[in-house]
Amino acid sequence: MAEGGHYDIVILGGGSGGYACALRAAEFGKRVALIEKDKVGGTCLHRGCIPTKALLHAAEVADASRESEKFGVRTSFEGIEMPAVLSYQQGVVERLWKGLQSTIASRKIDTILGDGKLISPTSVAVNGATYTGDHVVLATGSVPRSLPGLTVDGVRVITSDDALRLDRVPSSVVILGGGVIGVEFASVWRSFGAEVTIVEMAPQLLPLEDEASAKVLQRVFRRRGIRFELGTPFQSVTYTDSGVRVALGNDKQLDAELLLVAVGRGPVSADLGYEENGVAISRGFVDVDPLCQTSVPTISAVGDLINTPQLAHVGFAEGIGVAERLGGLDVRPIDYDGVPRITYSDPEVASVGITSAQAAGRGINVVEVNYPLGGNGKSVILQTQGQAKVIAEAPSTPGGQPGRVLGVHLVGARVGELIAEAQLIVNWDAEPDDVAALIHPHPTQSEIIGEAHLALAGKPLHFHA
Ligand SMILES: Cc1cc2nc3c(=O)[nH]c(=O)nc-3n(C[C@H](O)[C@H](O)[C@H](O)COP(=O)(O)OP(=O)(O)OC[C@H]3O[C@@H](n4cnc5c(N)ncnc54)[C@H](O)[C@@H]3O)c2cc1C
Repeated sequence: MAEGGHYDIVILGGGSGGYACALRAAEFGKRVALIEKDKVGGTCLHRGCIPTKALLHAAEVADASRESEKFGVRTSFEGIEMPAVLSYQQGVVERLWKGLQSTIASRKIDTILGDGKLISPTSVAVNGATYTGDHVVLATGSVPRSLPGLTVDGVRVITSDDALRLDRVPSSVVILGGGVIGVEFASVWRSFGAEVTIVEMAPQLLPLEDEASAKVLQRVFRRRGIRFELGTPFQSVTYTDSGVRVALGNDKQLDAELLLVAVGRGPVSADLGYEENGVAISRGFVDVDPLCQTSVPTISAVGDLINTPQLAHVGFAEGIGVAERLGGLDVRPIDYDGVPRITYSDPEVASVGITSAQAAGRGINVVEVNYPLGGNGKSVILQTQGQAKVIAEAPSTPGGQPGRVLGVHLVGARVGELIAEAQLIVNWDAEPDDVAALIHPHPTQSEIIGEAHLALAGKPLHFHA
């Protein structure tokens, strides 16, 4: 392990944002110190994307075995053995963690394990040693947030960190927050056999997604027996003999074994020397310009620590962008509307670009099409329900073709894999007619993208409104 010293770049935090910056900077021949107090890979690898998706895959296997008779296959579903699920989940994480550590080492990046603190605009103190850099990148990420007066005890009132370590399937759970994390855990626990109720302040689940997607998700969740209270504030929680009693603003009370608090994540920026060294901060988030430069010329910041979408791939892109800027490349700001977003529940919800409400809010005239998955052969084979909604600029002349595709919003099993095509369409400013000319392989779910654009271009194939 290195013992202090001078580097081109010192990075504080080895999660998605920090390690992506380190890997890319090393490609420019930069000497990089990556300081991490826990494990490289951060939230995404150890407490986020990867372990939750492993749970969701186990949930899918449970549903497939429970529902196999629908396909003429006789199996019996005998239950969930949580320790075995956790060991599968941990195996996936360990394997990826090993791979990441060896990639970092192969690029000659010095990883320093320890709790770091910014002590000047160019240096970080760790384990009593000082690491100076021509540039410092702050990437200390985020941690689960709670509500005022709501104490997380990690036993009956838990966060996603605790939920990922739970070695039993709870009989019942109230989930506070119907955002991505709340919806994904609701999906997993329901598939594992729990009674689940989501409480959400906003009038829909996944408040950042298009209303049409949320409606489909809510319909399918209802059918799956997942309950939800929308437009409902949380009031209080008390302990009962068997768990918790959650009081809601609509005078309802919900009893459950556990309360999962999934009301968002707050940036890790306190007591780290940021403000003392001139780094401007708003509501805990480090302020940055469109190229992730902070108010201090020698300091940049990336990932969940800044007020941009809290997604691993956003952290990667910001980290890479900073490394390229410091490497002398002409870097373009990220267009955050063009970042794909996926909720990996059953059904999945995936989107890129703007929603209908955002289009209205920005005064953009649009045309839209909703293509139901019921018209798609592969989706019927999979017995999944959902839709593809595509939003494009309204034609500029009566009877003309729509302009650029501004948003694609998908719901259904496996649709997360389709959003990569949709992001090319949106980010390359394609028009429905351009996409309609492209042939999609049959029978695949990708045809829903083709069909929706054919319909928008005025030449629908398997579509009736
Ligand atoms: C349950 C859950 C599921 C998620 N699922 C997805 C998903 O499917 N897809 C997706 O794109 N995103 C997902 N996310 C979000 C994603 O995990 C984050 O956006 C991403 O991890 C942010 O990366 P980061 O580098 O900014 O921060 P982090 O990953 O939080 O990394 C910050 C790192 O800094 C370290 N650190 C903090 N302070 C110090 C210090 N003083 N000294 C040294 N090291 C320090 C921490 O230990 C940590 O390793 C999920 C998050 C959660 C919680």
